[in-house]
Amino acid sequence: MPGNGDTPAMRQYTRFKERYPDCLLLFRMGDFYELFREDAVSAHKTLGITLTERTGGVPMAGVPHHSVDAYIRRLIEAGFRVAVCDQIQDAREAKGVVERAVTRVLTPGTLVDDALLDESQTNHLASVYCETKTSRALVATVELSTGAFTLFDVPASSLLDELTRRSVGEVIFPDDAEDLRVMLEAFPAPATARPTWHVRHAESIEALHECFGVVTLEGFGLDDDDPVLDPAGAAVRYLRETQAMDEPTGDAPSGNGASAATAMLVRPRTLAHLSPPKRERVETSLVIDATGLRALEIERTVRGNAHEGSLVHAMTIGGCGPRTAMGRRLLRDWLCRPLAELDAIRARQRRVATLVADRRTADALLDALEGVQDVSRIAGRLGLGRATPRDLVALGRSLNTLNAIAMVLHGCPAFEETERALDDLRSTLEPVSRAILKSCVEDAPGHLREGGLIRDGVDPDLDDARTLHSESSAWLAEYQTRLAETHDLPNLKVGYNRVFRYYIELPKAQATRAPDVFTRRQTLKNAERFITPELKEFEDKVLTAGERAVSIEQRIFLDLCERASRCVRAISAFADRVAEVDVLGCFAARAHKKGWVKPELVEEPVMDLAGGRHPVLEEVLGSDFVPNACALGCADEAARLALITGPNMSGKSTYIRQVALLTLLAHAGSFVPASSARIGLCDRIFTRVGADDALHAGQSTFMVEMVETASILHHASERSLVILDEIGRGTSTLDGLALAWAIAERLCTAGARTLFATHYHELTGLAESMPERVSNRHVAVREWSNERGEREVIFLHEIRAGRASGSFGVHVARMAGLPADVVQRAGELLESLRVSHAGETERTHTPPSRRDQMSLFTEYVEHPVLTELKSFELDRMSPMDAFDALRALQRTATNPGESQ
Ligand code: ADP
Ligand code: MG
Repeated sequence: MPGNGDTPAMRQYTRFKERYPDCLLLFRMGDFYELFREDAVSAHKTLGITLTERTGGVPMAGVPHHSVDAYIRRLIEAGFRVAVCDQIQDAREAKGVVERAVTRVLTPGTLVDDALLDESQTNHLASVYCETKTSRALVATVELSTGAFTLFDVPASSLLDELTRRSVGEVIFPDDAEDLRVMLEAFPAPATARPTWHVRHAESIEALHECFGVVTLEGFGLDDDDPVLDPAGAAVRYLRETQAMDEPTGDAPSGNGASAATAMLVRPRTLAHLSPPKRERVETSLVIDATGLRALEIERTVRGNAHEGSLVHAMTIGGCGPRTAMGRRLLRDWLCRPLAELDAIRARQRRVATLVADRRTADALLDALEGVQDVSRIAGRLGLGRATPRDLVALGRSLNTLNAIAMVLHGCPAFEETERALDDLRSTLEPVSRAILKSCVEDAPGHLREGGLIRDGVDPDLDDARTLHSESSAWLAEYQTRLAETHDLPNLKVGYNRVFRYYIELPKAQATRAPDVFTRRQTLKNAERFITPELKEFEDKVLTAGERAVSIEQRIFLDLCERASRCVRAISAFADRVAEVDVLGCFAARAHKKGWVKPELVEEPVMDLAGGRHPVLEEVLGSDFVPNACALGCADEAARLALITGPNMSGKSTYIRQVALLTLLAHAGSFVPASSARIGLCDRIFTRVGADDALHAGQSTFMVEMVETASILHHASERSLVILDEIGRGTSTLDGLALAWAIAERLCTAGARTLFATHYHELTGLAESMPERVSNRHVAVREWSNERGEREVIFLHEIRAGRASGSFGVHVARMAGLPADVVQRAGELLESLRVSHAGETERTHTPPSRRDQMSLFTEYVEHPVLTELKSFELDRMSPMDAFDALRALQRTATNPGESQ
C-alpha cells in the first residue's frame, strides 16, 4: 500500500491499478512507461530490465516508450495481461498531475497490432461454455485482428483438440464452471475466468444485438434462441473491455484534440469490423486431434518444436508458398482442419487442377496477388480506429489489385464463383481505393505527427499552408542579408530553436550595436539573441502554417479512414477471396513443380497409393527418397490393417506418417506426392506414437500413450485412418506385446484403415490367423558379410510384403558407433539367446488362443520371484528362516526395484 512515496501521480497510478488488478499496468511518465510494486518485480524477472526504487521504497522499473511494443510482446508471450495507461494531456498544459487514461488492454487473444502479432499465424480468442445436459461445449471464436467470428459446438471431450486446431491464443470461460477450469489447465494458452452473468442468454443476446446494431440475429441466419450465442455475447463483452471501449469518455483522448500528436486518432465506439457470427458444423472437417497434429508435425516438429521441417513450412518453400499473409494463415488452417465432405474437396481439387493445367493463368494470378498486403488485419485496425497512414496506403494499393485478379480468373469455369464475388465487391471497393491513391503519397509515413501523407494538389488550404512553410527558408535567408546590410552587422545570423523559436543572433562583441527594433530574447555565453516585430509576425504566420498543414492532413486522413471503415465487411470479403485463391495457387504451384497428382477421393474405405513420397523428407532428400506404395482394403490387398516390421532406422515411422500426410493433403484439396492415389474419405486421422519412440522423447509417458490409445479404440470407425507407431513400448516387453496384440485385434474389428509399425515381431503372427484382415509389410534391407566376417546391412527404405526377418538392433548399434568389442559381445549374446529360445520361435508366429496366451508370455522370461522360490530348499530351513525368506520375496514382488 502507498507509504510515504505517495505522490499525486502515485495516487493516480493506484486508482488505475485498482481498476485493472489482473494486468501489469504500464504507466506513461515522460519518455518512459513505468511499472511499480509487484508489477515492477514481474517485469524485471521477465524482461531483465533494471529494478530501482522510487523514494519511499516503492520498487519501480521502466521501458522507453518508443520500444514499448517489443516489451509488451514479450510480456504477453510470458502469459501476462497488460494495461497501457497513457498521458492524454500535454504535460506543459497540465495544472498539477497530467491527465491519463488506459488506452488499451492487451491479452494474448485480443491483439491487433502488427508489432505484436505473427503475420503467418491466426490468433483467436475463444469463449467457451459447457452445457451439462448434453455434455457439449459451446464455443465462439473471434479473431479481433480481422473480425472473423465463428460459432460451433463439440463434444466436451474434444474441446481442447478443436481449440488447438483453430489456433486459439486465449480462452475465456464463466468463473463458476469448475470442470472447465480444470480441463483448460491442460491447454497451453491462458484461460481467463469471467463473470458468470456474461453467458446468461438475455445478457448475451443484448450484447450481440448492440454490437451488430440489430434487433434479431435472424438476418445472419442465426436463431436468437441458440445457446451457442451465450459464449458469443460473453466474447463481445470481453472485447469491449479490452479495447477500453467502456472507459468513461471524459478520460479518453478525443479524435482531434489532445491526441493530435498520436498516430491513432479515432476512438473506437463499436466493434464495427466484426463479421456477423458464422455457425459452423465441426463434422464438415476431418478431425485430427492435438496429439495427431503434433505427431504428424503439421505445424511444428516434434524434436525442437521448430516450424522448419513441418508440413506447413514445407508447403511454403521453393517459391511455391502463398503470396499473401492471409494466404499463409489460411494454408495453416486448411492443413489443420482439412475437409470431410466429398463435394467440398472436389470443388477445391477442380480449381487446383485448372491452375495446374493452365500455368499462364496460375503465374499471372500469383503475380497479381503479390501486390496484396494484409488487408484482413488492416480492416481490423480500421474498425478499431487504429489504422496508421501506412495501413491506409497499403489498403488503397491492395484494393487496386481487385481488377487484375478478376481479369486473370476471367474465363476459367472453375473460378466463376470467385470472379462473380469479386465483381460484386468492385463497385464498393474501387472508389475507396481510388480516393486513397489519389490523395496519398506512395511512401506513407508511419505516423502523422509531421504530416507527409497527403499529396500536393489535393486540398488548396493544405497547399497554401505548405507553400508558406516552404517559402520561409528563402524569406529567412533574404531577411538575414537585408538586416546585415542595413545595420552593417556582417556576423548577424537568423536561426530557430524549439523553445525560443526564431531569433536574430549577434556575437557578444557586436551586441551593443543592436538597433532599437531588436528586442532581447536570450543571452548566451558568447552571443545575444533578439527578435524584431517583423520576425515575430513571420514566426506566427509560419508556425501556424506548419501546424495547420498537419491538422489538414489529419482531417483528410480521418475522412479516408472513415470512408474505408464504412466498407470493412467488403474489405474482409475481398481478403477472404484473396486468401482462398492464394492457397489454391500455392497447391497448384507445388503440384506442378514437384509432379504431384490429383488424388481420387471415393466413398469406400480404401487406400491405394503408388509411388508415395513424404512431402517434407522429399524436400530434404530429393531423388534419394525412396517412393513407396500402400494398399489397404482395395483390390490388391483386402486387409485394412498392415503391420510394418523392420530394423530401427529403416523407415517405418516415415512410411506410416507419409500415408497419413498424403491422406491429410488430399482432404485439404491439395494434390499429393505420389504417382497415383485413390483414397477413401476419412472422418478422422488418429496418430499415436509409443512412449519410448525417440521421436516422442520426453513428451509422453506410458499412461498418456494408453489414454490416447483408449480414445482411438472408442472412436475409430470404418472411415478412420489410424497410425500407430511402436505402441506398447513404454512398459515391460510382455505387457507391451500383450497390449499391442489386443489393440491390433480390436482395430481389425473396427475396420479402420490402420498402419501399425512395431518392433514386436511376434505380432506378425496375426496376419496368419486373420489373413483377410491383417497383412504384413517389412522394410527391405540388403545384408552381406564384410571382409572381417561381420554382418553388414543397408537400409533400402523399401516397403515390401511379408514380415521382417529380424530386428538388426546390433547392426544399427555398430552403425551408430558403439565400440567394436561391445558390438561383438552383443552379437555373441544374441546367438546364444537365439539358441536357447529356438523352441519358441515357431510358436510366437502363431497367435495364442486365450488359454495358452499366458504360457506364451511366461516362456519368455521367468519372474525373479518364481526363480527364487524354486531355489528354496525347504527341508533345510527352519520355520523362522522360511518366514524371513517369504517376507523378502513379498518385498521383491511388491517393490521390484529393490530386488537387485
Ligand atoms: P524407423 O521408424 O524404422 O526407425 P524412420 O522412419 O525414423 O525409421 O527413418 C529413419 C531415417 O531413414 C529417416 O530419418 C530418413 O532419413 C530415412 N528414410 C526413411 N524412409 C526413407 C525413404 N523412403 N527414402 C529415403 N530415406 C528414408
Ligand atoms: Mg520409428
